[in-house]
Amino acid sequence: MTTLHSPVPLLDLKAQYTTIRDQVQDAIERVLESQQFILGAEVEALEREIAAYSQCEFGIGMSSGTDAILVALMALDIRPGDQVIIPAYTFFATAGCVARLGAQPVFVDVDPQTFNLDPAKIKAAITPRTRALMPVHLFGQCAEMEPIVELARKHNLAIIEDAAQAIGSDYRGQRAGAMGQLGCFSFFPSKNLGGIGDGGMITTNDRALAERVRLLRNHGAHPKYYHKLIGGNFRLDAIQAAVLRVKLNYLDQWSAARQKNAARYRQLFAKAQLEMIGLPIEEPDRRHIYNQFVIRIPERDALAAYLKQNNIGTEIYYPVPLHLQECFAELGYRVGDFPESERAAKETLALPIYPELSDAQQRAVVDAIAAFCKETDFKVSLRTQT
Ligand SMILES: *Cc1c(COP(=O)(O)O)cnc(C)c1O
Repeated sequence: MTTLHSPVPLLDLKAQYTTIRDQVQDAIERVLESQQFILGAEVEALEREIAAYSQCEFGIGMSSGTDAILVALMALDIRPGDQVIIPAYTFFATAGCVARLGAQPVFVDVDPQTFNLDPAKIKAAITPRTRALMPVHLFGQCAEMEPIVELARKHNLAIIEDAAQAIGSDYRGQRAGAMGQLGCFSFFPSKNLGGIGDGGMITTNDRALAERVRLLRNHGAHPKYYHKLIGGNFRLDAIQAAVLRVKLNYLDQWSAARQKNAARYRQLFAKAQLEMIGLPIEEPDRRHIYNQFVIRIPERDALAAYLKQNNIGTEIYYPVPLHLQECFAELGYRVGDFPESERAAKETLALPIYPELSDAQQRAVVDAIAAFCKETDFKVSLRTQT
């Protein structure tokens, strides 16, 4: 099999860089010539462009997606004693930021179809101490926002969208980051819009919140050295902004290529009759931008090991659900509390989906999975014979 000889990485940033090298280098050069490195015109331009792209009035550049989440919570004045509802299955930052402010992350199980917050399970988690809901648009597909927005309205709760993986994704025509009070984006290099280092953005349609975020980002000072709030240094660098502005021009094209690759995987899996593989489910009222293409299979660990042997890059997002993380032991959650999150953590595997992935590479991935399934069936039937 050719799959044994041509490695398929999970992500190939060099392939993308090759296509935009000159423009990226010009952008960096422009910043070097200006010697304006912190905030400034490039950052302001990116803020306007991301806000427009995300159908929001305001964009505030942040030092990372994690800091965007932290400052969004600070802007809402989330403090010790408060509770924030988040999915049990997501990246750590969503919960970590809540806990860092002394507030309590309250976990809710996910919908097994989309791996996003299950709206039907939120109500039971709301208490008089609940201040905010933080849905995550995991893997590039929006959470089911309508019932979440409805619950928030009814219980007078704020919504922070963790849109770190979902820039440009839609829910019923609304953009990720535009449906709650605050949207949080990450420009970590592996996201659909990735910088050349860390970066992030907060979006909002609320002028007062935008003002607070801007203050908090820069030690709460206005004017300089007069501190209205206790903030920090959560600023975005001009070099990151300049490079991200180049890349933003290509974002729709790249996301479309990811969607095309997802469609091609579906065809290849169907042709290979691999029914034991659960493919990502695209909800009809959403635009999935495929930051990750995540399959599920009970034999996940064996498949991941097999693909690694065959030089195919995969990743497990995420092997431990948040309620079972060691650092949250004192919250008192136990195995069995969130069965869908626990099952997702055991069964999901991300396959290469990046825009430059070739047809041949995708065939190699599916061929290898088909070979694994054949071997596994063989072993299973041997086991039952003895
Ligand atoms: C990447 C990510 C973050 C954090 O973003 P950073 O820029 O890496 O700090 C937060 N939440 C989710 C769901 C993410 O995928």
